[in-house]
Amino acid sequence: MQSIAQVTESRLASPGMQGVDVLVVGAGLAGLRTACLLARRGLDVLVVDRRRSLSAGIRTTGIFVRRTLDDFDLPDHLLGPGIRDVLLYPPSRRAPIRLTSDRDEFRVADMAAVYRHARHEAESAGARVLLGVRYAGASAGLVRLAGAEPVTARFVVGADGARSRVARDLGLDLNRRFIVGAELVHPIAPGTTAPAFHCVLDPRIAPGYLGWAVDDGRHAHVGVAGYPAAMRGGVRRLLDAFAADAPGHAPPAGPVERRGGPIPVGGVLRRLACPAGLLVGDAAGAVSPLTAGGLDPCLRMSDLAAAVTADYLRTGDRSVLGHYDGNALRARFRGRLLLRRAFTGIRSPAAAEAAITVLRGRAGRALAARVLFGDGSFPDVRLDRVASGT
Ligand SMILES: Cc1cc2nc3c(=O)[nH]c(=O)nc-3n(C[C@H](O)[C@H](O)[C@H](O)COP(=O)(O)OP(=O)(O)OC[C@H]3O[C@@H](n4cnc5c(N)ncnc54)[C@H](O)[C@@H]3O)c2cc1C
Repeated sequence: MQSIAQVTESRLASPGMQGVDVLVVGAGLAGLRTACLLARRGLDVLVVDRRRSLSAGIRTTGIFVRRTLDDFDLPDHLLGPGIRDVLLYPPSRRAPIRLTSDRDEFRVADMAAVYRHARHEAESAGARVLLGVRYAGASAGLVRLAGAEPVTARFVVGADGARSRVARDLGLDLNRRFIVGAELVHPIAPGTTAPAFHCVLDPRIAPGYLGWAVDDGRHAHVGVAGYPAAMRGGVRRLLDAFAADAPGHAPPAGPVERRGGPIPVGGVLRRLACPAGLLVGDAAGAVSPLTAGGLDPCLRMSDLAAAVTADYLRTGDRSVLGHYDGNALRARFRGRLLLRRAFTGIRSPAAAEAAITVLRGRAGRALAARVLFGDGSFPDVRLDRVASGT
């Protein structure tokens, strides 16, 4: 059997052209985490991202759930204070339901710093990261890059977000159901707010999802998300209207950062891998269809993706790719997909008021607490299922 280096060498299309074991497209959390784990396994890994800076074009609020914080090593100084209180508001904003956990359930991260940290981890493991470089297509192992020379890659990891070009080029499944989210980030004076997660159920501002206000102790994040077709006037107008009197925070003043983007809510895609590459993170639809949380799945799925990729490249055995199976993960999402449908059905303020009334009851509060404080954000991906995962 040829070694990784021999195989890579034989794939070089022309003298001087760079050949890598794995090209990771996208330096979001999924891409950087996968790259780091692959490099730690001794593979030659190149990461490219069209963003010129990891502090620009951020597409997340950065709320990490307890389960992620328990299972992954995120440096404490990158995270805001622990949040135990969730307030659920009806459209009238009157008498919110307060749910209080006896543990820290959420922490909002400084995401620019989280990406910098993830990049540092990947580079320390030996991966190279090129920013300002766009993946522009691939054929027969040759990858075209706008902003850099083409490379040959034995395997391509599509970590290029919700509308993945890599998925299309590899002939893998594509996300088809989206909500769109947008938020304002504005500075707040430290110590002026009590840590709490404010959620507003109001289809006029967030059809099919929620409006939210939460802070990391130094910045407030005020956002809305919903089905774009139902957002009359567009998400930006709804966000500005919501931010003007969002609960828990004063209207934004001074310089603000805007974040936003599509969020796939159709569940994990079925076909995620082929001999030329695989998908991780949003590109794989790895987002909880109910809560729209994607940061935990990014980390959890990347572990499995890296184990499968390394095993496949080491053995050349295509059956290894069968362990990266979207169908198996999807089966564990049925309940959440059903609840998403119920969420989508809340189309009027009256229906939202009624839903909040139901949640005020004992069973309703228990259900809300289970969704918000439970351990079920994303199915655990068991690495020991991989044949000879190292
Ligand atoms: C407004 C909003 C708020 C959210 N808040 C939360 C939250 O608080 N908690 C939570 O758990 N989830 C949240 N989510 C979801 C979560 O942020 C995402 O699921 C997660 O960040 C996806 O990470 P990723 O690495 O897969 O993709 P991304 O972070 O989108 O990274 C993809 C990268 O690929 C790059 N790229 C794309 N195309 C190319 C190309 N052709 N060439 C080179 N590079 C390319 C992009 O520049 C980008 O850097 C939120 C989503 C949105 C939109």
